[in-house]
Amino acid sequence: EKARLAKLRRLPAVTLDGEEVELQANLEIPAELPLIAQAGAQGIGLLRTEFLFMNREDLPDEDAQVDAYTQVVEAMAGDCVTIRVLDWGGEKDMEALAEGIGPFHAGPNPALGLRGIRMLLKRPELLEAQFAAILRVAGAEPGTQIRILLPMVTIPAEVSQAREIYERVQRRLRRKGIPLPEKEPLLGAMIETPGAALAADAIALEADFFAIGTNDLAMYTLAVDRAEAEVSHLYDPLHPAVLRLVQFATEAALRLRMPVSVCGEMAGNPRLVPLLLGLGIRALSMNASAIPRVKQMVRSLKIDDCARFARRVMEQGDPKRIQELVMGFGEAGS
Ligand code: PEP
Ligand code: MG
Repeated sequence: EKARLAKLRRLPAVTLDGEEVELQANLEIPAELPLIAQAGAQGIGLLRTEFLFMNREDLPDEDAQVDAYTQVVEAMAGDCVTIRVLDWGGEKDMEALAEGIGPFHAGPNPALGLRGIRMLLKRPELLEAQFAAILRVAGAEPGTQIRILLPMVTIPAEVSQAREIYERVQRRLRRKGIPLPEKEPLLGAMIETPGAALAADAIALEADFFAIGTNDLAMYTLAVDRAEAEVSHLYDPLHPAVLRLVQFATEAALRLRMPVSVCGEMAGNPRLVPLLLGLGIRALSMNASAIPRVKQMVRSLKIDDCARFARRVMEQGDPKRIQELVMGFGEAGS
């Protein structure tokens, strides 16, 4: 089994009928880099940058960030690296993150408070330092593909305001004579709230790409905190409401020929691959360890079957029935 999965590493992630699927890795700490190469990921679809801010008393300066991003970009040897700017707040460990950031009002419900891009727009100096560090790395390493991802977007103005800051940082670096990349890294939006998913067409006018974060999308759609034992049984990314939002956001992106990926836990579950491909998704980002099995699944599928299967699933209103359909994919009659 191990040898078989190792062999898979060199095989392309392509369906039986020749449709290519991009399989990328999510990265939480640089120590996971060797795993990513082993797994045969085609780049990083989600680099969470919270690690830079954790367990320290001060803030990481621009140079420290340049070092960290350079390490990742060099390890990926020309493959795309999608760097998500700080997603402070929500269910993330704010105690560990908070010290250098200073006193912050989390509010009675941090998940509905100042988190992600909301917080960064209140503290633009944090966003500026991250943008500057990313641009310096992109400028110093031609031939690398870097993309920037904004967390917790709910309105188009958050993307356009972030872009203004991004352009301001570029002008500042140019004035200082720092080499910039020929093509600036794309600026994308996480789609991880129901609001963002339902307004995806409007957000798409401001963003260069989407990454659908099904972890938060399921939590916010179903009003269920996974860490809350009393209600965790209701947490279900296969709830039709979550799937309809994924479909809606995906279709908004596809209409504009804008890149869209899924980067929540869903993406790493091989059993959910037929459904996601059937909904039009062609890029998945997951824990590196999940890539071989997901690739194996991709290589066993035909897109037509996936599309037909997704249509059947999307007609269902009962999460339990959807679960049954998903578990039974490929069996007679499904
Ligand atoms: C998500 O919400 O699905 C996601 C990928 O982001 P994170 O898990 O870091 O919140
Ligand atoms: Mg999230």
